[in-house]
Amino acid sequence: MINKKRLSSTFVDLVKIDSPSGEEKLIANEVKKRLEEIGATVIFDTYGNVIGKISGEGKPFILNAHLDTVEPSRGIKPIKKGGRFFSDESTILGADPKSGIAIILESLTSLREMGNKLPNLEIVFTIGEENGLMGALNLDYSLINSKQGITFDGGGPCTDIHTAAPGYTKVDVVITGRSAHAGAEPEKGISAIRIASEIISKLPLGRIDDETTSNIGIINGGSARNAIPETIEIKGEIRSRSINKLESLTLTFQKIFYEVIKKYDGAKIELTLKQQFAPYNFDTNHDFIKKLNKIYQKMGLISTCIPSGGATDVNIFHANGIEAIVLGTGMYQCHTTKEYLEIEEMFQAAQFCEKVIQSLISFT
Ligand SMILES: [Zn+2]
Repeated sequence: MINKKRLSSTFVDLVKIDSPSGEEKLIANEVKKRLEEIGATVIFDTYGNVIGKISGEGKPFILNAHLDTVEPSRGIKPIKKGGRFFSDESTILGADPKSGIAIILESLTSLREMGNKLPNLEIVFTIGEENGLMGALNLDYSLINSKQGITFDGGGPCTDIHTAAPGYTKVDVVITGRSAHAGAEPEKGISAIRIASEIISKLPLGRIDDETTSNIGIINGGSARNAIPETIEIKGEIRSRSINKLESLTLTFQKIFYEVIKKYDGAKIELTLKQQFAPYNFDTNHDFIKKLNKIYQKMGLISTCIPSGGATDVNIFHANGIEAIVLGTGMYQCHTTKEYLEIEEMFQAAQFCEKVIQSLISFT
């Protein structure tokens, strides 16, 4: 039986361990220790991801969450109030991803405690997820045998099944014009800021349609108030749940950048449009979803399939032939200092996870 008190205390223990992206060593060692206590064989792959294996019956199945948090996430002090956990608002709470890790650990602990037979499980805790899914991208897939799995990394309750997520193109640009004194001889200069402004004013930005967005998020450039700015750096992104739209918007960006730069004789552009990962769309009529829906029904719950605007490890799993879905863990307002966790929803997610694991033996 899922123990709500133990689940909450695991969650609190985990959020108190600092684990900003790139500094996951402590949390990785902690989850390794906890998985070993549950009886898993645990290794780190060469990138530093944690892979725990439990051998049992049936086809192998992945349970996944990531280990790293976005900043500010050092010295998190979780506060319990009215059925929720909050931070003290000087940091995020870290329910993203620590609620997901706690859900997986509690469901395994509970099943062990009840003396249940376990199926073949691969517990994958990745690092660097918030850094562009680096852990999942560099995961040693030769160590993974599963073709299906669940990732606990979604907002909302566990009845929210995130069946689709966008692909992602990183936009990195450096524009080089020519510097000159802005008062004495402005004619000799080419303003990189002016070029960037013209480009940005032409780019389609914001919500393009219900599955496509784009953004310019960072601009750095110029050296002095009285100098024509020679260089400017622009960073942005394009997202779409349709691969065709992702690629076509990327081409539109490219066209606009080159068309504008051509008008400024002597200006140069270094443009990198890199597709970091592809989108995925999980068929909601898929057998896997149908099987999960039976479990929801037995628990008296109704699931909702929702497309997500954010990417997770699941984007990369799909590219590696693993059909996985993302479930909500009860977390809200993630990546902000107002982040909170509905304790009852985390509890329900752990109960659901436990039922999924139990059903896996007959599942396959
Ligand atoms: Zn996350």
